[in-house]
Amino acid sequence: VPSGERAVITTFLDVSEMIVLKNALQKAEEGNRAKSSFLFAMSHDLRTPMNAIIGYAELMERHWGDNELTTNYLHKLKGASQFLLALIGNVLEIARIESGKETLNEAPWNLKKINDTLEIVLDREILNKQLHVARNIEIQHADVYCDSLKIQEIIMNLVSNAIKYTPDGGKIDVDIEEMEAVGEDSIILRICVSDTGIGISQKYIPHIFEAFTREKNSSESGIMGTGLGLRIVKSFVDLMDGSVIIQSEPGKGSSFIVEIPCRIVSEEERIDQAEQR
Ligand code: ADP
Repeated sequence: VPSGERAVITTFLDVSEMIVLKNALQKAEEGNRAKSSFLFAMSHDLRTPMNAIIGYAELMERHWGDNELTTNYLHKLKGASQFLLALIGNVLEIARIESGKETLNEAPWNLKKINDTLEIVLDREILNKQLHVARNIEIQHADVYCDSLKIQEIIMNLVSNAIKYTPDGGKIDVDIEEMEAVGEDSIILRICVSDTGIGISQKYIPHIFEAFTREKNSSESGIMGTGLGLRIVKSFVDLMDGSVIIQSEPGKGSSFIVEIPCRIVSEEERIDQAEQR
């Protein structure tokens, strides 16, 4: 083929390759959108019957709770249903994140309320485990602009993982503090959750934020989980322009360190908001 014609063929091939690639990308995007909307619709519809199952199990526990065997069965039914409901909630969240619909909902929030979040998660998750929990919360600029629900969900996920993956007799440290940021009107909220649990292998750490992945030792040890919590944590932290660092040694324990920049509510804004109320 004469060189001039070869150039035309090459250009032609490049263009056709680009069209094939563009079509493939378009199809992949459509597929992804269809998957997300299917997950969203399905999860949404599953929630109502799950809530009914939990509600009726609670009612039955109240009325027939005097028989030990029945109480035990109902307790298990409720536990499994609550796990399923949490799973559905997480799938819904992942579908929202993957469809790009998840956004930040920032408003002034008092960081001292993190104490209440910790009470709730510790109360709910620690159950019959013999763990030593140390809390250290140092907050000075209480009011900041942030998405408080997402911050609370991050803390709940990290603390409940620390509890789940730490055998009896272990220790969990929750350190939450404010650090100086570059701008004077901002702070960095630093959340550090450490445990003396089963730890994570270096090989698995790069995959830890992928949805539905679990390390072999945690799934084989019979600890319940879905592999969705940390995917949600990472997406929320990314949305808030923050960072997550993991330090871990198998058999010794793990530390998850999250840093989130937050703008401090100024004195004028505080006065304005008080007047509007
Ligand atoms: P889940 O705990 O529901 O499986 P996550 O997304 O929260 O899902 O965590 C993903 C995986 O990371 C877990 O299955 C477990 O293998 C590992 N992991 C998370 N937190 C810890 C921890 N504190 N200690 C040991 N392994 C952990």
